[in-house]
Amino acid sequence: MIPVRFEIITIFPEYFIQFKSIGTIGRAIENGLIQINTHNPRDYSKDKHRSVDDYPYGGGPGMVMKPEPVLECLDSLGEPAPFRILLSPQGELWNQNLALHLSQKTERFALICGRYEGFDERIRIAGADLDISIGDYVLSGGEAAACVVIETMSRHISGVVGDSESVTSDSLGGNLLKHPQYTRPPEYRGLRVPEILLSGDHRKIQKWREEMSIENTKRKRPDLFTCKDDLKGDKKSVCRGSEDPDEF
Ligand code: SAM
Repeated sequence: MIPVRFEIITIFPEYFIQFKSIGTIGRAIENGLIQINTHNPRDYSKDKHRSVDDYPYGGGPGMVMKPEPVLECLDSLGEPAPFRILLSPQGELWNQNLALHLSQKTERFALICGRYEGFDERIRIAGADLDISIGDYVLSGGEAAACVVIETMSRHISGVVGDSESVTSDSLGGNLLKHPQYTRPPEYRGLRVPEILLSGDHRKIQKWREEMSIENTKRKRPDLFTCKDDLKGDKKSVCRGSEDPDEF
């Protein structure tokens, strides 16, 4: 099996040392299911200080990432050309649907991490197939966003999560949140596990879980629940994220 490759363009490659070595991601790398490589734009800088940023034309606060080091770093990735994701608070909002669809799209991705005040616009125009935001807030750099994107996509790559049912039953699959879960002991601090889960009646347990999943979603994320209803009709556009894998 060919591993899915994530090529991260970052001026802080050390950020990913721990990320690559622990948990689900660490195991997926060890088992040859994914690869995570880092590439530093500083190695493509032409000046003796290896600088990758410069003052913004027109003035204003902070520094902007220069186009040459980032675009030349991207060029160095060679073939097959990766699907290039620019991490930006201005991008399309990341969600479970998008993670699933992108994970099925190709076997090589580039993730471009910004720093400072962000990118020279030509990096986006010439170097990105899709801009992704992981949420409506501003990080100091794209590295944390790259970890989020890689981790969520990897869960959809066959074999990365041992029991594939735990991925299909995750919250947000089918736009529903998961039902509440319990483990031993049956009672703790006066709080009892629902009797039905101790009954051994798997048909009833399944029914309870489905009902709780719907109730959970209605209570915590009514926006998702509306979206699920709309999917049955012809109002797909109200749902967050793309339902169409060929859109990008
Ligand atoms: N001045 C930029 C703006 O207003 O759009 C924000 C720059 S931010 C301080 C630096 C970098 O962090 C960005 O270029 C991007 O790569 C990353 N970043 C910040 N927030 C992000 C988010 N919500 N999603 C993805 N990447 C983000």
